Amino acid sequence: MTIPYGKQNINEADIESVISVLRSDWLTCGEIVPKFEQAIANYVGSEYAVAVNSATSALHIACLSLGLKPGDWVWTSPNTFVASANCALYCGAKVDFVDVDPKTYNMSIEALSLKLSQAEVTGTLPKIVIPVHFAGQSCDMQEIHLLAKKYGFYVIEDASHAIGGSYKNNKIGGCQYSDIAIFSFHPVKIITTGEGGVAVTNNKLFANKMQNLRSHGITRNRDEMINPCEFSWYYEQINLGFNYRMTEMQAALGLSQLNRLDEFVMRRHVLAKEYDDRLQNLPMILPWQKEDTYSSFHLYVVQVEEPSQRNILYKNLTDAGILVNLHYIPVHLQPYYKNLSYNFTNLRNSEEYFVRAITLPLFFDLKKFEQEQIIELIKTFFKGQI
Ligand SMILES: *Cc1c(COP(=O)(O)O)cnc(C)c1O
Repeated sequence: MTIPYGKQNINEADIESVISVLRSDWLTCGEIVPKFEQAIANYVGSEYAVAVNSATSALHIACLSLGLKPGDWVWTSPNTFVASANCALYCGAKVDFVDVDPKTYNMSIEALSLKLSQAEVTGTLPKIVIPVHFAGQSCDMQEIHLLAKKYGFYVIEDASHAIGGSYKNNKIGGCQYSDIAIFSFHPVKIITTGEGGVAVTNNKLFANKMQNLRSHGITRNRDEMINPCEFSWYYEQINLGFNYRMTEMQAALGLSQLNRLDEFVMRRHVLAKEYDDRLQNLPMILPWQKEDTYSSFHLYVVQVEEPSQRNILYKNLTDAGILVNLHYIPVHLQPYYKNLSYNFTNLRNSEEYFVRAITLPLFFDLKKFEQEQIIELIKTFFKGQI
């Protein structure tokens, strides 16, 4: 028997909702996607939501809707999935990384502020900064917002981990301190649509542009047309867009999953607290939570104090069928990014974190006895190491 690090929970209501779409006339471009978008916007407190086929697609069209062009700079965190940086390269822009805070593993405000003051001198300020709410805990958005005003850059929150979490008592995704936020509905994330993602914003122009780009850059809205025409068969392509649409089945699953989002997050907190309580006093650093954040706890990451023990512990647990994982290999260390031969510097915290980190299983269906087994194995491991 194996225990994965993350897993979806699908109930009968979820299954029924997808089946009812399959029995209907519309598998795509129907009324469920707009319904799902409205439900997401209501939940997070944003004006608009644009659903797409993945968070990666959402990041791509979010960058384009902010006018990202070749030659522009995008800065993100090195401690993230590659998609947070790739979206810039899709647009022909250049990528650089801002080191993480050693306690939250989120983009460090000190590092960001220092890098901005240097970039101002060299004329290399970013057009967009993409903070990543690592493991579901919000970055210091108010501080990032102040820097955005001072230096004139846009902010896209990569909230792929973070639906259901809060920052200063507001749900993540309300975009109080950002231009756009994106969520992922991949099965390991908090709620799922199989594959899928959404971009939320309070800006009508950005929302319209993203709606247009997710469907080939085509419009049927006469107000947007260059040569409006009275016939209903008429449409115009006004941008180079993509087919990034979400299907009706996916949206139905998402709508149904959204009913249990708070329950999912609460369960994750119970499991995280159990780890917190039981893994104290071992040579490991446990997740640290800032007082103004409420994490969705997508991940429970510990750092082994002694890096040489990390791979041994990893092997020990995986050999026992506990499929722990590692989030993340710093993006600037990926061969593709090394080959770009940019000069990535000052990313020591992310590298030191990486050699110590290990992600323990955390998901809605993790059973008490399974968690017990994981905890006991870790304790036994450290006893054997002394
Ligand atoms: C999962 C993830 C993505 C990509 O999400 P997809 O929906 O799989 O495209 C992007 N950024 C981060 C931080 C993620 O964890």
